[in-house]
Amino acid sequence: MSNVRPPVVRTRFAPSPTGFLHIGGVRTALYAWAYARHFDGVFILRIEDTDIGRSTPEAVAAIIDGMSWLGLTPDEGPYFQMQRMDRYQEVLSLMLADGRAYHCYSTPAELDEMREAQRARGEKPRYDGRWRPENVKGRAAPADVKPVVRFRNPDHGIVQWNDLVKGPIAIANAELDDLIIARSDGTPTYNFCVVVDDWEMAITHVVRGDDHVNNTPRQINILQALGAELPIYGHLPMIHGPDGQKLSKRHGAVSVLQYEELGYLPDAVINYLARLGWSHGDDEIFSRDQLVAWFDGQHLSHSPSQLDFDKFRWVNHQYLKATDDQALSEAIRPRLQKRLAVAAADAGFSPAPACGDRLAAICGLWKDRAATLEELSDLAAIFFLPPSHAPDALARHLTEPARAGVTLLADRLAGCEWSREAIAGCIKGVLAETKLKMPHLAVPVRLLVFGLEQTPSLDAMLCQMPRETVLTRLAQNRLAQNR
Ligand code: GLU
Repeated sequence: MSNVRPPVVRTRFAPSPTGFLHIGGVRTALYAWAYARHFDGVFILRIEDTDIGRSTPEAVAAIIDGMSWLGLTPDEGPYFQMQRMDRYQEVLSLMLADGRAYHCYSTPAELDEMREAQRARGEKPRYDGRWRPENVKGRAAPADVKPVVRFRNPDHGIVQWNDLVKGPIAIANAELDDLIIARSDGTPTYNFCVVVDDWEMAITHVVRGDDHVNNTPRQINILQALGAELPIYGHLPMIHGPDGQKLSKRHGAVSVLQYEELGYLPDAVINYLARLGWSHGDDEIFSRDQLVAWFDGQHLSHSPSQLDFDKFRWVNHQYLKATDDQALSEAIRPRLQKRLAVAAADAGFSPAPACGDRLAAICGLWKDRAATLEELSDLAAIFFLPPSHAPDALARHLTEPARAGVTLLADRLAGCEWSREAIAGCIKGVLAETKLKMPHLAVPVRLLVFGLEQTPSLDAMLCQMPRETVLTRLAQNRLAQNR
């Protein structure tokens, strides 16, 4: 048996902080994370902030907050490319020193002219290598032009890799020209920084969106020039909107933090996004641990995925239902308090101080009917706010016999033990005495106490409301009668 350990898997998520953290980006991060976890590897976060015009600290914060909310914790990083400039310059110098890269003094006007001439000859426009060391032949560098640095791309052969998602891909070097790797102001370009980082961070698997497929042969050539071991590449197809178009804000929430606001649970987001572009048989609902156990780079979808908001909601509902009542009550408490504060400010109403110890039980009552924490908060708020009566519904359901039933029930409830069983006993007793059918009593009671025609089981609902509140609200029945 060999005691040589296989190389550790090292993946990275390398977002550019130029906007919010898009759910497409999150899925890329998730796959890189799950792949590393599956192989007991290392997951790295690298912030590609070299586009100083478009990178913002807010976008960096959104990336870090979003990943931390989802529990996609990096083992290394965040690294910031802007803090690695010295290293890029060192590598540039090494490459310039031995001709792997060279200074190019062609002006933009000159390059335009060159391309024009190529087009006129029916050729594909590409840099013709006029400043390659072998072509300069003693030509002096113009003093008034600040040069760019170009990578000397191989002339012959093909660049090929076996993409984890797309299978074998091959590009002829004849298709690639000498890429600019540093601008005339000396700053390294995107493709160069990625390469130096992937090399120095010893990335073994580059998982990224397939909008980067065209960069890969160029990056491979530079890696090879550096003598670096090549990572395995996996290019993920895009996520589209439900209409099959590129996902954008007009489709709805596309920033991951919007999902937090809407009351999605991190595990549900992970589950839904994992399944969007990858499958494990017919499994739709699986835990993070199962995902990690199953995610080995196989069964990645070859075609773009379509975001299905209804399914996303359904997945969230499954997770919400399965969450324990206490945890749900902690999760909705701030949302609930916000609602109560708004109601208090609007109506001079003073909210029940701490939303009570009843909150866990209230969550238990409603969780089957709420798909998100926002919906659950709305439903829970019913217990802490005055009911908003629908006069039409009240008029329809508060018939004479119903009123008599409500009055009798209020009398019984005034004296019973405040438990679900005892309340159920009172309801049963009133039904027996008045010969009312359950809905003819329960609907008016629900309307009076909760402002809703339908709720979970009435005895369980009433039991979570203080007795005095229930009696005061049921007394509205008498007020209505005396009017
Ligand atoms: N920074 C690039 C982006 O946000 C990703 C680069 C990469 O993964 O290689 O699209």
